[in-house]
Amino acid sequence: MKEPLIMTPGPTEIHEEIRMAMARNITNPDLDPNFFEYYAETCNKLRKLLNTENDVLILDGEGILGLEAACASVIEPGDRMLCIDNGIFGKGFGDFGKIYGAEVVYFKGDYRSAVDVNQLEEFLEKDNDFKLATVVHCETPSGITNPVDRICPLLREHGIISVVDSVSAIGGEPIEVDNWQMDIALGGSQKCLSAAPGLTFLSISEIAWEAILNRETPIGSFYCNLAIWKDWYEEKWFPYTQPISSIYGLDCAVDRILGEDDYIERHKKIANGVRKAIVESGLELYPIDGHSNTVTTVLIPEGITFDKINDRMIKEHNIMIAGAFDYLDGKVLRIGHMGENCYEEKIYITLKALDETFKAHGIEIDGSMHKHFVDTI
Ligand SMILES: *Cc1c(COP(=O)(O)O)cnc(C)c1O
Repeated sequence: MKEPLIMTPGPTEIHEEIRMAMARNITNPDLDPNFFEYYAETCNKLRKLLNTENDVLILDGEGILGLEAACASVIEPGDRMLCIDNGIFGKGFGDFGKIYGAEVVYFKGDYRSAVDVNQLEEFLEKDNDFKLATVVHCETPSGITNPVDRICPLLREHGIISVVDSVSAIGGEPIEVDNWQMDIALGGSQKCLSAAPGLTFLSISEIAWEAILNRETPIGSFYCNLAIWKDWYEEKWFPYTQPISSIYGLDCAVDRILGEDDYIERHKKIANGVRKAIVESGLELYPIDGHSNTVTTVLIPEGITFDKINDRMIKEHNIMIAGAFDYLDGKVLRIGHMGENCYEEKIYITLKALDETFKAHGIEIDGSMHKHFVDTI
């Protein structure tokens, strides 16, 4: 059977050009001087994408490795960490902090809204003695994009290192690491970049490097240790053999994005169309504000379950959408419109299949989602 169309919020479909890049013959990435230049060049392209002059590293593990490496490298036991929490990934960051000995304090926001910067400001006026703060740019399970453009400068004002999980935003939402004063921003290969799962990348500011390199206690990990990467280029040395084929794919994926006129506008336009289609059909979006341009989260209407929807979407239409997990398990469905999935045709057939699925299960909606979508777009 043909693979399903994966309209999930990552992994996303991989364009043939990227697949071909991954199929290229390889050299020995530990020994070939050309590969060090290739890796450096790919990092330079990521810098462009992130709008930063900061160092960028690509690590051999998917997004979670980036989160953990940032925590492992910055945190020393007993350090105070502010965990900005308005969703599943945001809260989970606190657990990584604890693994590395941080005293974690939570700033808990409404799970259906973007982080309220004014409230955060008030909070920080009373307590700001933190070494670092973690925040998620786009909360993928709930479909909320947080105003990291305002959060990170606020943290910088208080001398707090910002660590931003931008895994499901980079390549779909605007990101300006330098202007927004982001200390560590991290992404993954398999979301809006639409490369194969398996890589994470981080930009690291001077301030973050200082904290990482001037610790009193050693970093309690090798694979998550960013300090060992500091002079990789000068020394022409990688801590472990580089996943060369995946990096070929990532390089091609970033080229494709940088070569496009306005990928941010494309994401905005499609996301807006999806949301309108949902709302006009009488269904309810999970977020109240802060709507993401890369993923839409919809409450499951009365009279049906996610499993029933999913089952028919796969069996009758060969289209994969996503549910969610943790407290959202069974409550929502998610459509990923990120990267390679963020095109009119793919959204059209996905919404058309959802229309059919609701109809087959006797769930009435106002008009049809695919028609509302076309009318908006
Ligand atoms: C996908 C994602 C990650 C990486 O985690 P997975 O293991 O791929 O689920 C991290 N953070 C966010 C916000 C993500 O969307």
